[in-house]
Amino acid sequence: MKSAAVLPVIAAAEPVLGANSGQKFARPVVVSTWDSGMTANAAAWRILKAKGRAIDAVEAAARASEEEPSCCVGLEAYPDRDGYVTLDASIMDHRSNCGSVVYLQQIKHPISVARKLMETTKHVLLAGDGALQFARENGFEVMPRKLSADAEKEWKEWLKKSEYKPVINIENRKISQNEKSAPYTINGAVNHDTMGTIALDAGGDLSGACTTSGMAFKMHGRVGDSPIIGAGLFVDNKVGAATSSGVGEEVIRICGTHLIVELMRFGYSPTRACREAVRRIVDRDRAAAKEMQVGFIAISRTGEVGAFAIQSGFTYSVTNSGTSKVFASDSIFKAPPQQPGS
Ligand code: ASP
Repeated sequence: MKSAAVLPVIAAAEPVLGANSGQKFARPVVVSTWDSGMTANAAAWRILKAKGRAIDAVEAAARASEEEPSCCVGLEAYPDRDGYVTLDASIMDHRSNCGSVVYLQQIKHPISVARKLMETTKHVLLAGDGALQFARENGFEVMPRKLSADAEKEWKEWLKKSEYKPVINIENRKISQNEKSAPYTINGAVNHDTMGTIALDAGGDLSGACTTSGMAFKMHGRVGDSPIIGAGLFVDNKVGAATSSGVGEEVIRICGTHLIVELMRFGYSPTRACREAVRRIVDRDRAAAKEMQVGFIAISRTGEVGAFAIQSGFTYSVTNSGTSKVFASDSIFKAPPQQPGS
């Protein structure tokens, strides 16, 4: 069995536009949103390459994202408009078991709370104080309420205008020195956001996980698509799995990932199914869609991988025994989105 270290890794700085459209990957295989999905994939791959289960792999992927400050999810991420980091996460396995937490604060790994909920209770979704209480009762450490230095700086900057306007492809982090030449950066920022991971294990089972701090500077209490099963994440072991990143309200309106999996059930390829979901968002309000980003990734039960987005700039990472690459998704609007200052 090859180890991750000997994979022919193509640096995250080289997304391959549309190169995998409709491409089938031998299982096991893991796919994550964004270039930062490489971090998530590496954690998932350690499990998948040893013939581990997809559910363990996707949880490990989400945990890796949650503890990587540059991944822009977890406690170091940007807060809501009142300065609170509120986290949402969901997980779903090959038997349609699922668990979600929303508006969870001070917990480092919301994805593991979601999994605990899935595996030890009859419930699917816990919110806020109840989710925190459940986490505490199950041994999760409650962390101090504290913004990261970067999040605090950006929040204070945002407060000057208090204008809620999610910027396409750039919700979060500024690039580091060694990423300056990355082609997927736009005006000095990296396309990092919600981390969604879907995996097909060696035994042919699918699972998915999705973790986020939600839209930066959202209204206090706002919850997006990521923890909503059928919106930000859906898995049907007989068909495929899908997850999303971007403006969650749009994804919720069309039950995005459920729609994608259902379209795949009726013969759509993952790419075509993702495109149809994006098209529905754009058709509802084309002018509004021009100002926002939503990206979907999907995998079929046979390992075919696809993606589609409203805007260019959405990337996703694919890892299996022969591939570890960032791909650039195709999109409805091809021109690079306008960014502040451009
Ligand atoms: N989809 C997430 C939400 O709406 C955020 C994002 O991906 O930017 O909460």
